[in-house]
Amino acid sequence: MANPLLITGASQLLTLRGRGPRRGNALSNLGIVKDGALLLRDGVIAAAGSRAKVEALPEAVAAEKLDVGGRVVLPGFIDSHTHLIHAVSRAEEYGLKIAGASYEEIAHKGGGILNSVKKLRSATSEALKLRARAALREFAGHGTTTIEAKSGYGLDVASELKILRLHRELNEEQPVKIVSTFLGAHVVPLEFRGKKDGAERYLALLMEKLLPEVVVGDLAEYCDVFCERGAFTVGQSKKLLTKAKEHGLRPRLHAEQLSRTGGTQLAVELGAASCDHLEQVNDADIRALGKSGTVATLLPGCDFHLGLEQYAPARKLIEAGAIVGLATDYNPGTSPTTSMPMILSLACSQLRMTPAEAIAAATINAAYSLGREKTIGSLEEGKQADVAVYEVEDYREIPYYFGMNVCWMTMKSGEIVWMRD
Ligand SMILES: [Zn+2]
Repeated sequence: MANPLLITGASQLLTLRGRGPRRGNALSNLGIVKDGALLLRDGVIAAAGSRAKVEALPEAVAAEKLDVGGRVVLPGFIDSHTHLIHAVSRAEEYGLKIAGASYEEIAHKGGGILNSVKKLRSATSEALKLRARAALREFAGHGTTTIEAKSGYGLDVASELKILRLHRELNEEQPVKIVSTFLGAHVVPLEFRGKKDGAERYLALLMEKLLPEVVVGDLAEYCDVFCERGAFTVGQSKKLLTKAKEHGLRPRLHAEQLSRTGGTQLAVELGAASCDHLEQVNDADIRALGKSGTVATLLPGCDFHLGLEQYAPARKLIEAGAIVGLATDYNPGTSPTTSMPMILSLACSQLRMTPAEAIAAATINAAYSLGREKTIGSLEEGKQADVAVYEVEDYREIPYYFGMNVCWMTMKSGEIVWMRD
């Protein structure tokens, strides 16, 4: 067992203490302690509070000391929506997007998700791992300590299992925690298109062959569906997610991104952990989310990268009492970023969330969406010592500086996993 560690010198310690998740006005409550300190023991927080209080503890006297020099300390970010494993970037589509081609037009030209599927199927596990490892270092380097990762660029039995196994292997070999989600229903793969009942036959493959393998191998905690025009209908999504639930996989959904399909109502009906995107929600959807335990996870990086004008109605969702979360949606087609601070900048400037709301959405509410609010997402006694320290004196400067990395140090379970030179 390592010595306890006393961290002092936090100009602001953002504890996020209290019962999560945060709704409405409570979303702004960061539980800030000025001149804060943390005492860590065996990777867990033993005490969090004012310097005077924590320093006075008998255990703190003998502890190792780390003074963070007046910087801001907060819980490591939890990125609850990523597509970690993919073979290459889709930079070749970037010019088309800038010229005004829609996401769907690019897909018609052989680009989009199916392009990533083709590349992934022919990539070796080792090559995929190399790329994912580099991304994981970047996540840690921006202050993220836990990510959710989805399959969905394989779309056949072998390739989907390959991705899910990589989630497990990568989780074991490096410090950023990976929570695995099965997204076999990302789109209908090429070999099923043009066939009679192609989508239904692909769904049957997912439900009868792939899902049981995922369950037997314990390869995912969640099952997600891209419920969208050109992907899967509400009826198809319901069929698969209901089956997944029977197998013990909790639903998540991609819903109302490019068109309103009714996916949000389905998410609420199924008690999904999270319903993500939500650019096209209507007032009834907002009300339903407001009364539910399903997290409304907003992904402004997509709209920014695609140059879209319609962002999700974050203010209305907060006012309706929805549990709003934020994530990067790290993926090669629509949101190539691992930077949660950049997502906070977009949440502030485009979604009109305050810096405080954005931080709570990306920590305690994101933890809740992954079913981990009791162990991560805040800096409180008994929780994992997942800590991010930023090179700023005031937390509002984290989203204020954009496109710069102001992360100074990241700790996972009490170990320093990233530090500025
Ligand atoms: Zn996504």
